[in-house]
Amino acid sequence: MDTTCEVCHGHAPADHYLCEACQHTHLAWLRELPHQVALLRTLLHPDTGPARRGSTGRAHAPIPVRLDVLDLLGPGTVHTVPDPHGDQTGGVPITPFLAGWAHYIASDIPTAYRDAHGTAHIAQARTATAWPRTGTGLTAWCTWHERYLPYVATRPYATTLHTELEGLIHRLRRLNHYRPETRALDAPCPCCSAWSLVERDDELHITCTICPARLTPAEYAAHRTTTMRRLATTVLLTLDTHGPTAA
Ligand SMILES: [Zn+2]
Ligand SMILES: [Zn+2]
Repeated sequence: MDTTCEVCHGHAPADHYLCEACQHTHLAWLRELPHQVALLRTLLHPDTGPARRGSTGRAHAPIPVRLDVLDLLGPGTVHTVPDPHGDQTGGVPITPFLAGWAHYIASDIPTAYRDAHGTAHIAQARTATAWPRTGTGLTAWCTWHERYLPYVATRPYATTLHTELEGLIHRLRRLNHYRPETRALDAPCPCCSAWSLVERDDELHITCTICPARLTPAEYAAHRTTTMRRLATTVLLTLDTHGPTAA
């Protein structure tokens, strides 16, 4: 039986908590993370500006790194630090965030084995450690999460992971002054007929900026083929009726 996506409330496949579009976005964020982190590393040391004579008005030397950047790049615990006094401004750093979730997911994956008498058992490990095949760097953890997304999408915690990943990617984009690229498409919208259809790097669906139209890439390709052919025919008929415009 089909279910509803817990994130966008759209149609999700049977026994899934994330729909195809949200899984596509999740994958796009995981692929974007290493690029965002490479940009973020360039911001670690604050821009000090040109040297100035005289007093700078400071009683001590400034901190040599940006704390908001270090907060994301540095090591850390995989849990949010308890903050009874409200003096924590950051969250969990990127690599512990990915590693912590990977260990949690690994512990959730049931193991199947056959005993000496031939009976198959399915057991749930209390704690398991995730080991990416390509090391323990950021890209390796992102690849690990990409590979396990089909499993995660069927688990109730998929929404929490998706929401936390969204928060992280938006924080990175804010620091890096980055916006996902949006491209205007050449066929008009099938609902409002305006030339307002756009596609975005991290979204599966093509959307209209004027009306709520939403098309999958396959739907857009079919729509474009028929619409552009009709438009081309209309242009040719107009030219045939009125003749070519004198130069
Ligand atoms: Zn969804
Ligand atoms: Zn429209």
